[in-house]
Order: sequence, then structure tokens, then C-alpha cells
Amino acid sequence: MKIKNISKFIAAFSMCSVMSGTAIAGDVVSGGGASSADKIEGCPSPVILKNFVEFAKTGKMPPAFGKWLNSVEAQQIEPYKLFDNVYNVGICWVNAWVIKTSDGPVLIDTTYGPFFDLMISNMQQIGVDPADLKLVLMTHGHFDHVGGADRLKALTNAPFVMTQAGWDEALEHSKKIPFMEEMKAVPDEHDIVAKDGDIFTVGDTKFRVYETPGHTWGTASYVYDVKDGDREIRAITIGGLGLNGVNDTKQLESYIDSVNRIDAMVESTNNPVRVHVPAHSFASGLTEQVESIQNRKPGEPHPLLKESSLLEQLERLRSNAQQRLSTLKQ
Ligand SMILES: [Zn+2]
Repeated sequence: MKIKNISKFIAAFSMCSVMSGTAIAGDVVSGGGASSADKIEGCPSPVILKNFVEFAKTGKMPPAFGKWLNSVEAQQIEPYKLFDNVYNVGICWVNAWVIKTSDGPVLIDTTYGPFFDLMISNMQQIGVDPADLKLVLMTHGHFDHVGGADRLKALTNAPFVMTQAGWDEALEHSKKIPFMEEMKAVPDEHDIVAKDGDIFTVGDTKFRVYETPGHTWGTASYVYDVKDGDREIRAITIGGLGLNGVNDTKQLESYIDSVNRIDAMVESTNNPVRVHVPAHSFASGLTEQVESIQNRKPGEPHPLLKESSLLEQLERLRSNAQQRLSTLKQ
């Protein structure tokens, strides 16, 4: 598949990852790291975020960064285990998560275009054949999360799940984005429209759907339990966090409501959500934590279980959205 001018698509659809100063933006703005003109080595969260922030500010994709985003070689990462039943099989800048259940694997998001084969190869590396997938959950209709759906559909009988507005977004984009040109073929009788409160049970794992509009109107988040030894920890994959291009006050208000709703799940005294399994690793600096997760010694707490980190992430998201909202209302 030919990739031409991904920047144009990213600009047009205000894609997911422009975090407008989310979790690690403070580090990025003040911290070191390569300038956008430098060649990007590896998968460094602060540098990626810095470039997206620059792109959001100027509307111009830094050339070296655009090249890096488009490079299959640069985007390739090794799959890794985040929890005993959770593996990232995505690419550097966009995640795809395999959740292993007692009845087979579930996938969250599909990557896209030229990177689809990397995801399949990563899946195979962790022993998952796409034919064995039991369910494919999709967070929202932006190309970087669902652009691989059609190709994946040819490899599996698993039903694909997204909100109605998410399907609509994807179909709308399929008219304009080469990565998604086949999405029109996806919603058939096998596919599922997810609604708030739905629970999809696969073997021993329940996936709860929360509609969390804001990043897009169709954005959903999924809550499920991850395993760490003999413990189960409640986790969330938040469908989308970026606000770039969101200048609609209603949408910003929905975004804030969604953040507040997730916040309440984190602060709940009844089986609270403790961990964010993100759609983009660089947004919360997850990539930089992988090594400590892998090198963790028996008995040590899981590095992602720091009490305050998820609440801090949510607070940053909320205050960014509130700031933008008040600017728009002036
Ligand atoms: Zn998005």
C-alpha cells in the first residue's frame, strides 16, 4: 500500500495522539530530547509528544517526524507483556492490545495501512493466530485505530465492536483515507454496535463498554480486569485523549464529562480502576516504563500501580479541556 502524505490525513482528522500537553507534556516542554528536526531514534515518548505538540501549534508536520511516522522500519517495535494476560502488539506510535482470556484472545484496535503486517507479526510472536481471535474491540473511528479492520476481518471470524458513532466516523473517513477504503465493507451481520453499559464476556474476562465522547463523538473506553500473579486489577483502555482540532464547546463539555466519569471509576471504593492500558503509549510515557515492568523482581509492585499516576493523568486532561473551553467562550 502506498502511503502518501499521512500528514494531510492527520491534520484533516485531528487524530488521536495530539495530547495538547497531557501526561508528560511538562517534561517534554522543559526537558531535553531531540528537536523536531533531528532524526528520531527508537520510540521515545517525550520526543514524539513534543513533535505532536509542535504540529498542533503550527499546523505543520515537522518533516523528520512525518518521515518517521510513515516509516515501517521506524514504527516496528517488539511485542511486550504488560500484565500476565495483556500484550502490546501494536507499533511505536499506536497500540493494539491482546487480552488473553480462558476462551481465546481479544484484540483492542487494529493499527492501519502499512503497519498492519507488523501487528500480525507481533501477534504471532506472542503465540496468537489472528484466526483465533474471539472479539475485536475498537475504540473510535480514527484511521490509526481501525484502519486495519478490513484486512483483519479477512483473517478472523471474530466480531468487531464499536459504538454507532464510531462506525459512522470510520465510514466517513473511509471515503477519504486510503488506509480505510474498505471500511465500508466492515459493518455486516457479524459486527456489533456497542452501547454504554454493554458487557462482552469472553471466557473468564468481562469487557465493559463506556461511551466516553470527547476526543471524537464515537469514542468508547473499555474496562476489564488484568492479571498480575494471583491478583486481578481493574484496567481501562481510554479510547482517545487528544484534543487537537476539538473546538466545539459541546464536544469539549462532553470530553470533560467523560474524564469526570473515568475519574469517578478510579476514585470508586468498589473495585476501582487502577491502571490505564493506553491507546497511545507516548501519551503517558508507557514506553519508558516497559523496561522496569520487564525487569521487575518477584514481590515488587507492578510499576503501573502507582496510586496517583492515573488521577494525575486525568487531572491534566481535564484542565487542558477546561482551558480550551474557557478560551473558546471568551
Ligand atoms: Zn483518535
